[in-house]
Amino acid sequence: MEIWKTRTENFSMLFKTIETTTKITITSSIAVMRARTMLEIQLEALEDVLSKQAQYIANYKEDKLVMEAIENESPENRKISKYRRTVPETKAKGTFRESLNCPNCRKTCHKKCLVPLSKLAWTCEAMTDGKCTVCDRKCDAKDHVLSRKKYRVVYVTKFYSGEDVAARHEKREGTFSLLQNTIHLIEKCIIDINSTALTKDALSSTKYIQNLTNKEMRKKGEGYEMRIQILRNILKHLEQNSISNLSMDYLMKS
Ligand SMILES: [Zn+2]
Ligand SMILES: [Zn+2]
Ligand SMILES: [Zn+2]
Repeated sequence: MEIWKTRTENFSMLFKTIETTTKITITSSIAVMRARTMLEIQLEALEDVLSKQAQYIANYKEDKLVMEAIENESPENRKISKYRRTVPETKAKGTFRESLNCPNCRKTCHKKCLVPLSKLAWTCEAMTDGKCTVCDRKCDAKDHVLSRKKYRVVYVTKFYSGEDVAARHEKREGTFSLLQNTIHLIEKCIIDINSTALTKDALSSTKYIQNLTNKEMRKKGEGYEMRIQILRNILKHLEQNSISNLSMDYLMKS
């Protein structure tokens, strides 16, 4: 478990460490390597998705107290009361190397992409059959642009009224299923990626989530402790159970 002790610097390094064992030469064809790169790109992008969803769940945890308190409040008070929450925001940052970005989703679909022209975006490993595997809505390759910037998720403080909190509460179960879907997707990518190489220390969804936890710990972005608590609960659950029977209540445990 050396890689966790050294606190993996970034996602590709996690792969380099895991990848040191012999691959089956026969399966190391270009097609397999391309499929593998695509999976790595997808897994890297899913880190931000999971981090954001952990924050949303953490916010429901805080909303719970508000929900109890506002039951006895007048509609006026619900409107004027203000609650502080940490929320994700996408910011663009200038970079030296070009990345392939989707302006519609405000997402970096392939960091440091080697495609020479935006017109050729369909040749990028993040694309399959002209569609992006990173964009949530599977945007067309031609919607993508090569540029010297990357989008990143940062966490900021915003204020919400009691009314906002109550309205958001109705989407609670939907938010939870999105998180479950993300972990399903991560598991699927990992199964596929492990099938492309023979490794002694194969990647697992728990290693993946642990790596994200370490990153959050290192970056110390606003509200990171809240997200780490949610990620730890996921890890604890996955030690014994499958993701299908995870519950919102378990996730929100302190
Ligand atoms: Zn998109
Ligand atoms: Zn690319
Ligand atoms: Zn995309």
